[in-house]
Amino acid sequence: MNDEQSNRFRLIKEIIMRSVAKTWDEAKLEWDLKHVYREDEPLTCLCGHSPIIEICVLSNRHNYKSAIVGNVCVMKFLGLESDLIFAGLRRVAKDSSKALNEATTIYANEQGWITDWEKNFSLDTKQKRKLSEKQGQKRVEINLRVLAKTTNTYRRSAS
Ligand SMILES: [Zn+2]
Repeated sequence: MNDEQSNRFRLIKEIIMRSVAKTWDEAKLEWDLKHVYREDEPLTCLCGHSPIIEICVLSNRHNYKSAIVGNVCVMKFLGLESDLIFAGLRRVAKDSSKALNEATTIYANEQGWITDWEKNFSLDTKQKRKLSEKQGQKRVEINLRVLAKTTNTYRRSAS
């Protein structure tokens, strides 16, 4: 078995251990994306891979167990939308005057980081390159808030 196969095997085993269902096809459906964030200090994925920088905290909707899995594994094996959210975060981290993408906007609103008004503002203006000065400031303000909420927050709130 190569590294990738053994990591996959380990991830499946660890997820099933934390699930109600005992088969992978059923077990993986029990998991939701609870939180995503970018970590400065590398962590280890449930599959054993380290370092992981783009962290997904998953939550089981039946038994409320949680699991820390890297974005790559979530994308490859669980099929949740974390890759779109991380792509959105990377984009505004590079340039905070860029628009937040739709997946990240909706996620930020669900988390309560941005209001319904701000969500609508983001969605309505995301195609616009030319914003008024006030709109531009609002966009940057939203971006910086979302970035702050997705940088090492889990570790901070856990300690
Ligand atoms: Zn992994």
